[in-house]
Amino acid sequence: MQSISPETIYRGNYAWQKSLPKITKLTKTPLILGRGTHTYDLRNKIFHDLKNQNLDVKFANLEFDCCYEDISNVKNIILKNNHDSVIAAGGGKVLDSGKYIAHCLDIPCITVPLSASTCAGWTALSNIYTKDGQFIKDVALGSCPKILVYDHKFIQTAPSRTLASGIADALAKWYESSLTSSTIEDGLVQQAIQISRVLRDQLLIDGEKAFKDQFENNISWRNTVEACGLTAGLVGGIGGEKCRTAAAHAIHNAITQIITPNKFLHGEIVGVGLLLQLRLEEMKNNNKLADQSTKQLLLLMKQLNLPTTIGELGINVFEDNNLEKIADFTCRHKSEIHFLPFEVHKKDIIEVIANFEKQKIKI
Ligand SMILES: [Zn+2]
Repeated sequence: MQSISPETIYRGNYAWQKSLPKITKLTKTPLILGRGTHTYDLRNKIFHDLKNQNLDVKFANLEFDCCYEDISNVKNIILKNNHDSVIAAGGGKVLDSGKYIAHCLDIPCITVPLSASTCAGWTALSNIYTKDGQFIKDVALGSCPKILVYDHKFIQTAPSRTLASGIADALAKWYESSLTSSTIEDGLVQQAIQISRVLRDQLLIDGEKAFKDQFENNISWRNTVEACGLTAGLVGGIGGEKCRTAAAHAIHNAITQIITPNKFLHGEIVGVGLLLQLRLEEMKNNNKLADQSTKQLLLLMKQLNLPTTIGELGINVFEDNNLEKIADFTCRHKSEIHFLPFEVHKKDIIEVIANFEKQKIKI
């Protein structure tokens, strides 16, 4: 079974308004799930628009993350009030929680991404974390969301940092899937990898222009937010579980194990993971093009103000045994690192990260 895409997708300006008749048919007692205070006004608008459609609608907020504590609280609210759907309105953590909860309770999920930071509004996958934001595991869900509403007017209100993060996460589709899945003899997987290459090219061309001028009348912005929130999800849908993540996400998952006072976004950490993956390819797979890819990627990451070292994520790898902890988690038994076409051991990760953090990389 493979769920390629949400059943219905509304996109562009006023997509939310356009989706109302469909939502009203699907649900009578929805629960709106959200998190941050900066998206409160949008969730409030969603709430009132649904109220005006005579729906019996209520709010719930995540307290921490897409974690078991929050999931269990929200599940109880839904069961107590007999909600017949979840409308997840927010960033990746909110979308992942909403999808997971709806999957567990067998009710439909409607995703309303409020930034372009991930493709979580599209996919049939949820990443589960601890309440402190440490990655635990990803869970494959029964299907993609029932309805995805990708309203550009909503996306536009998000901080620019979320767009940069979304670009880094979408770029990872190509760098990771081409490495892990290029030998898989499945036409759909091969085509998904090719879409991710076109996606990468578009982001390399449009990413900076989109970041500098985040307005609807900027065609680069429109194409970039849709690339991050929609096309990246499509790649995952077509490629399915064979179109795997690799070192960049494995390193992301390991970095989240170190708790820091300042939280970084998913794609911000994945971006650093991508640079480390390229170093690993150079060292272990004798990839002569990796250095060129690093330079190309670094240039864009600097233009987008993205962190480019673990140090810039607020972690000194040479303190508190952090390097050891990151290497341990990266190489643990269930890690995606083992999908790489070459063997990677803990000592390789330690060597790559130590060299990477010591040298000031030049573009
Ligand atoms: Zn990701």
